[in-house]
Amino acid sequence: MTLNRRVFLGAAGVVAAGLSAPMVLAQGKPRVVIVGGGAGGATAARYIAKGSRGEIDLTLIEPSRTYYTCFFSNLYLGGFQELSDIAHSYGTLAANYGINVVHDWATGVDRDAKTVSLAGGGSVPYDKLILSPGIDFVDGAVEGWDVSAQNKMPHAYKAGSQTELLKAQIMAMPEGGTFAMVAPPNPYRCPPGPYERVSMVAHVLKANNPTAKIIVADPKPKFSKMSLFQEGWANHYEGMVDWIGEDFGGGNVAVNPDAMTVTIDGEETKVDVCNVIPAMKAGRIAEMAGVTDGNWAPVNAADMSSKADLDIYVLGDASQQGDMPKSGFSANSQAKVCANAVRGALTGSKVFPAKFSNTCWSLIDTDDGVKVGATYEATPEKIAKVDGFISQTGEDADLRKATYEESLGWYAGITSDMFG
Ligand SMILES: Cc1cc2nc3c(=O)[nH]c(=O)nc-3n(C[C@H](O)[C@H](O)[C@H](O)COP(=O)(O)OP(=O)(O)OC[C@H]3O[C@@H](n4cnc5c(N)ncnc54)[C@H](O)[C@@H]3O)c2cc1C
Repeated sequence: MTLNRRVFLGAAGVVAAGLSAPMVLAQGKPRVVIVGGGAGGATAARYIAKGSRGEIDLTLIEPSRTYYTCFFSNLYLGGFQELSDIAHSYGTLAANYGINVVHDWATGVDRDAKTVSLAGGGSVPYDKLILSPGIDFVDGAVEGWDVSAQNKMPHAYKAGSQTELLKAQIMAMPEGGTFAMVAPPNPYRCPPGPYERVSMVAHVLKANNPTAKIIVADPKPKFSKMSLFQEGWANHYEGMVDWIGEDFGGGNVAVNPDAMTVTIDGEETKVDVCNVIPAMKAGRIAEMAGVTDGNWAPVNAADMSSKADLDIYVLGDASQQGDMPKSGFSANSQAKVCANAVRGALTGSKVFPAKFSNTCWSLIDTDDGVKVGATYEATPEKIAKVDGFISQTGEDADLRKATYEESLGWYAGITSDMFG
């Protein structure tokens, strides 16, 4: 072979990325089990299936037959999307990709036996296990609220019936009524999510109930895209949104779901709708697998493997990976890196160096879209930010419209990347 530049670079790339020898298995095809069919899990399933051409036995465990994306669920609240627009099924993954989709809850992980137990009985063996269970709420995070109160004071932070309920409550608000939000502390799923939601609720109220008010009790002194949201609220919804940050007692909150009151820094207010978004931690199955630090699951940035067990990978919101925000875009990006690494480990296919990216778009009002994003690389310590960008205040209407349209393209792209 003549050593020309292309061959040399190619060889260097292989060395840098590492060519792993296929795992030697006692019998049959290597088995990958994925728990959670959301942004991380569905993407990982599809990419492993696509790349391994039937060489891997792939099982996806997900209780719901319909996955409602949290992304764009705020746009449903704002009347820009129908609920059916954000609903997706697993039919194509099962039919066209040969993935064994099991609609059940994973209830435990036996790391010695390498099995995942199911609520419906029985267990599924694995050689590699990928966990992408999203988030659960920290017990006792908001005084007076627990999940038994979610029908009176919805969180709507897992999309579907909770989102539908919150919308029905907003539409039923009396004239001049009050919508309250209890915002979460860092870190949490979708940093701009609560504030995009405030914008979408304000949009609906401005059209249907213009004298209504929105109060946000926030334990943080600042939040994602803060100047962009505050500019937008002043421009589109003047006087409607009262954001009470940490400096004004926004972190000192108690709620009473029976009386429908919110007490912020000692001052009680009767409200008509209360959206409680409590502090979050990794989905419970990650804790049950023993791969969390009590809250989140620390992972190695190069392949998303757990720092506690190299045969378990944790994706998306549940992982503690470094600089990436907990977003669907991030989970999708991490899933591709993980799928590539898992295929390499099990079949000896080429493993490329990990690269990640994320963009979070938010809609403030009709055609007024903003975004923040970055690219990332894997370092020995964490997923580290390389460079980023953010929309600016005072941008012209055409650019904001183009940003919103970009988000529509992204939504179509990511959902077909997840579900085929
Ligand atoms: C209001 C809102 C707006 C958002 N907007 C955006 C946005 O515009 N852009 C963006 O990129 N991100 C957005 N996000 C964030 C995004 O939804 C999450 O970051 C993303 O879904 C995380 O993917 P995941 O795979 O970690 O979890 P999920 O997508 O939540 O998937 C987890 C899945 O695991 C399943 N599961 C959990 N436990 C078990 C178990 N024991 N057994 C089997 N299955 C289990 C669940 O049923 C669920 O389907 C938004 C979030 C919210 C709440």
